[in-house]
Amino acid sequence: MIVGITGTLGAGKGTIVDYLVKDKGFKHFAVSDTFLAGEAVKRGLTPDRPTRRDIANEYRSQGPTKLMEAVYEMARPAIEAGERVIIEPQHTAAEVDFIKSKGGVVFAIDADVRTRYERIQGRGGSKDDLTFEEFLAQQRMEMISDDPNKNNIAAAIMKADIIVRNDGTQDELFYALGETFKKYEGGINAGTYLTASLDEWQAAFYSLYGHIDDKRSFDSIWRHVMVNASKFSSDIRKNNFGLAFTHLAHILCWTLSFAERCRKSGELDGTDLFTTDLKLSDCVWEKYPAHCPYCETKPCSCASPGMVEKEGAALHIKTGNPKEKPATLDAWGIMFDEIYGNAHAVIPLEALAFHLVEETGEVTSQIIRITEVVNGATTEEKKKELQREIADVFSWVCSIVSKINRTYFYPAARHFEKEQNVPEGSIPVATLSKILWDEYGSLGELLCSTCRTNPCSCDRKLKL
Ligand SMILES: [Zn+2]
Ligand SMILES: [Zn+2]
Repeated sequence: MIVGITGTLGAGKGTIVDYLVKDKGFKHFAVSDTFLAGEAVKRGLTPDRPTRRDIANEYRSQGPTKLMEAVYEMARPAIEAGERVIIEPQHTAAEVDFIKSKGGVVFAIDADVRTRYERIQGRGGSKDDLTFEEFLAQQRMEMISDDPNKNNIAAAIMKADIIVRNDGTQDELFYALGETFKKYEGGINAGTYLTASLDEWQAAFYSLYGHIDDKRSFDSIWRHVMVNASKFSSDIRKNNFGLAFTHLAHILCWTLSFAERCRKSGELDGTDLFTTDLKLSDCVWEKYPAHCPYCETKPCSCASPGMVEKEGAALHIKTGNPKEKPATLDAWGIMFDEIYGNAHAVIPLEALAFHLVEETGEVTSQIIRITEVVNGATTEEKKKELQREIADVFSWVCSIVSKINRTYFYPAARHFEKEQNVPEGSIPVATLSKILWDEYGSLGELLCSTCRTNPCSCDRKLKL
């Protein structure tokens, strides 16, 4: 996650930074103290105020976002490692737009001018030693300018995602920030989607669709997985990879929604038939702890992988080493590629698509078994079996992506070649996170692929 901060002098930009660094674990990249000071030292200069200003002007003279771009490059390793970073301050509309174009969220902070003046006087130091009239004059200069390279804080504030007022106490500000931040916390955006975990995707889809899914029944959620699996198999038959990726994204999204709906079942349905503490990642890890559950090896050494007759609940699976549990969605893809990639080399894509459809049907069988069938199995046994079937659906989604990359890399590459940040000469590969982002991503946050809002507002047209 990337946060930018703009705002008026003395409004409390530093307080937001402190809050995000201490309470939310952000890394701070300050234009002046981190970047310009470092740049001065690199050039063998004293990193004092005039030197920093000269270097800043040098960057700005090359283009309205050049300074921001340079600071972004400095922060890039942290961003790519999935860390939360603050890059601040933004002083022009172009700088705010630049941070937003990287998927960042820009906060603007403002307060009454008299309050700001008093805060600045309180700070002391010669830089801030102004009369109120001088302060007002300085503010007018910084607030508005027609030159895109000059500070234009009024325009920057207008472009920000969130405007926070800081006229009260620090506690009041922290409370307001905490409330604002909830919307973005654990959020998936253009800066974080490649490194997001499966749990983060589950949470993100819940904040996008949860208010609607909570009103749906289990059957109706799973019906959507089945419909999309059926469409997916049709796409594969017709060799339409673009649509195949769309339907694969929907299968994964609905499967995550189903897993989340199971977690909420006790409270929403008042029954423990489906209730569980497990997230989808836990269900998958229980069945696939970094090796094939049937032959217990990685790569799988089953005679006909995935084709063996399963022994249902009797299947005994060893507990995995928690350190090997994949940390990101794409790491799950890699894990399944390592287990089954070679074995699936001799199986046509159509057969894998068949298998995915078959697995979605098996989840339906388990739903029927849980809700309708009276037999010897306990609720817990039936539930465990359902969780294993959901894990299978996820594993086949992963296997299909791996198969497409290994065998049909050209259509996959063609689909993703428009994406940014592909190193020169390399062939883009399809990953689960790219497939999801392609369908649900936007410049900033995750959006519903149908109504393009977050949270989704499709329910206005639904009978639920
Ligand atoms: Zn095996
Ligand atoms: Zn929608």
